[in-house]
Amino acid sequence: MICTTYFLTFFSELIPPTGMKMKRPILLLLFAAMFLPSVAKTWQLTNKDLQVTFDDTTGLFCVYDVRNGKKWMQNPSAEPVEVKKVRQEKNSLEISLKAGFSFTAHVSLREDSGLEFVISASKGTPLKEFSYPESFHTVDKDYYLLSTDGEGMLLPVDDQEYPLGGGITYTYNYGGGLSMAWMGMTDKQFRSGYMTILETPFDAALRTKRQADGLITFAPVWLSSLEEFGYDRKVTYHFFNEGGYVAQCKKYREYIWPKNQVKTLKENLKRFPTIDNMVGAPHIYVWDTGRDLDFAKELKKSGIDKALLIWNANHTPYPMVGYDDELRKLGYGSGGYELFSDLHKRDTVYYEHDWNGPLRYRHTSYPGLFNKLAARKKDGSTYSNRFGTYACPANMAPQILNRTGREMKEYRHDTYFVDVYLANGLYECYNKQHPVTREGYAKAIVSNLKLLEDTYGVYNGGEWGAEFGLAHTFYVHGMMTLQRTWWTSGINDKGTIYYAGDWKNNSRPTAMLGVRTAPDVYLKYSINEALRVPLYELVYHDAVVTSWRWEDSNHHNPELWWKKDLFNVLYGTAPLWNMDRSCWDDFKKTFILSYKNVCPWLQKVAYDELLSHTFITADGKIQLSTFASGNSVVVNFSDTDYDYEGKTVKRRSYLAFGNHK
Ligand SMILES: [Zn+2]
Repeated sequence: MICTTYFLTFFSELIPPTGMKMKRPILLLLFAAMFLPSVAKTWQLTNKDLQVTFDDTTGLFCVYDVRNGKKWMQNPSAEPVEVKKVRQEKNSLEISLKAGFSFTAHVSLREDSGLEFVISASKGTPLKEFSYPESFHTVDKDYYLLSTDGEGMLLPVDDQEYPLGGGITYTYNYGGGLSMAWMGMTDKQFRSGYMTILETPFDAALRTKRQADGLITFAPVWLSSLEEFGYDRKVTYHFFNEGGYVAQCKKYREYIWPKNQVKTLKENLKRFPTIDNMVGAPHIYVWDTGRDLDFAKELKKSGIDKALLIWNANHTPYPMVGYDDELRKLGYGSGGYELFSDLHKRDTVYYEHDWNGPLRYRHTSYPGLFNKLAARKKDGSTYSNRFGTYACPANMAPQILNRTGREMKEYRHDTYFVDVYLANGLYECYNKQHPVTREGYAKAIVSNLKLLEDTYGVYNGGEWGAEFGLAHTFYVHGMMTLQRTWWTSGINDKGTIYYAGDWKNNSRPTAMLGVRTAPDVYLKYSINEALRVPLYELVYHDAVVTSWRWEDSNHHNPELWWKKDLFNVLYGTAPLWNMDRSCWDDFKKTFILSYKNVCPWLQKVAYDELLSHTFITADGKIQLSTFASGNSVVVNFSDTDYDYEGKTVKRRSYLAFGNHK
């Protein structure tokens, strides 16, 4: 009942004080009046927690949460949606709608209180994209958007700077996509709120936008499948009275693990025992003089007991043949960087490459195979970014085996770090030899990852960490870095103290081996302890090890090294280092100290579920994480010591508790 009386008030509240801005709400009211069905009615779905009301005059839903008295009212649509017919059966509505094309929304309030929308239309309906259902109105600034465009962030709904938009699933490009197929809203006391789960995630987005009053909200957007509506789309909302972002992450975990067949690292250890060398260890990309076996031996002697060393065969010099076997003798993990995504224009014709020379395992050489391998758009053009043209994963298996088969004879890796696949998004391919939808593209990527597992007994790592690959990917590099404020933070300003370096020097790329200063936007978001939250870890910590991005590794901003290490401690994630001998010589003491600070702790919790994360102080300076083994950690980001339950947590440090309640 509370919602039904709310609609008119809501519309009048929307009318802002200036004359110009009044146009839209008035127009919308006019549209609503034009489409008034013959018998106007409000329809209700109810259970003990929620009263969901649908007003067939406005076409809008309102959710009243009985537990806390909060009302979640949909914003009016930018495009009019005409309600043609409504039918109710128990706690479900079947709503016939028209918004450019006719579709039906099957809306159910489920037993578990999930409010489910299944959207049906004729399969062949031509489509670019459409948004339904509409966003919920953010009532005031006492909320955070739970941003899942990476590890996670609390975006204040009145924030004016963070770049919005995008929200396409499983890509960090194009305006910031989602690593997981959900987003949420929580109050600033971390109790009530709601979350939205895209249950058909592959042609979909959750798009963030600012309401007329400037506050942030978000709505599902459905992309076409091969330019058509294609198939039923499904999105589910859950409303929360308690638990804030932790409860939302746990709800998602419950849903997504069985759906994507995600297993724990511990379960995967049975098949891939060398996972244990990677868990609780720094992940280290080695370059140039860092590829000598003596260098690895020196790390070991210096007290770096565990480490995963990875090298990239696009860069010389290569380590000694048999390097991986020697690393295993040291108890280290051995990894090869891989890349099966990029084609170059030179591949359109045949050319000679020295397959026995110093770059004999170069990743991006497919002489004469460009046309065979490229993913094609409908008009025949290709997809590309500054690194190359995308090879369609549905046709790459023979090339993958060809490349890795040769390399594995000299370098028997424990793991392949497969770059790009879990970061670069999903693309439709119209190449007649290997056509795929976005979902097909994702499945082909997963199949290629599985091929590596089954052929060599290796386990895989990935870039960033789009969740569709996590059944076959056990560590991901870059999830800790907030992509959107990393790439826009001034790191491309050559000649400045912020410049992130480049790849020009093949053996010693400064992008990996240089140091830099953090720009303001990076400080404001990426490394801001008051806004960052481990959403991805709360869902996946015991299934996948995450780290900072390689150009954003723990030591790249030396003045922030301590802070990045503390985030690793708090989230139970791995340090990411890039090293050659000179880098080690310059910072040897700090590397050793960093290892001793972070890794013994990680080894205690690395296989655990992250049960909870809490802000102890409102400014975010003191935070607590609790893991399934009973180990907890209180982290102090501040410049003064902190008394926590009678124990001192030193400044810029942490205190670990066993079996802490
Ligand atoms: Zn294809």
